[in-house]
Amino acid sequence: MFPIIEVECPFCKTTGQIMAPPLGSIIVGPCPRCGEMVLLYNGTVMPLDKNIMTDGTIEEKKQHLLETIVDMVAVKVDEVIENDEFKPEPKQKQSGKKGKAGAKKRVSPSVNDRSAPPITRDDIRDFVNIDLHLIDTRSYFEKVFGKKKIEL
Ligand SMILES: [Zn+2]
Repeated sequence: MFPIIEVECPFCKTTGQIMAPPLGSIIVGPCPRCGEMVLLYNGTVMPLDKNIMTDGTIEEKKQHLLETIVDMVAVKVDEVIENDEFKPEPKQKQSGKKGKAGAKKRVSPSVNDRSAPPITRDDIRDFVNIDLHLIDTRSYFEKVFGKKKIEL
């Protein structure tokens, strides 16, 4: 059984139900109602700039998608910080803790909530790692190469 998730177009607010794509996959496409470009990632729909996604260069599209995803993740990070205050919860399998029904019903499906923290953390780690890696490589390269140049 595939989980069904509710999605809403950030442009025209049309809602619909879709089969949840595999965790971690990035879906980009036009809204079937208004035709604006949207990004679906980790169960969250984000608005995209149609001009960039249709007429932009590959680099511009990459940058736009990356920024959009980072924005989305940043919002979730804010939520974690503001709501949770880092209560260290030992991750034990929830065994039959469905006692009080409807005490706090979340709008988003549970599969999203369950997957959000690890993906969020990984995303940020990847982002930082890639950036740091690039900076390191460049400075390292310049140091090594620069010295060699002077020695020659
Ligand atoms: Zn729409």
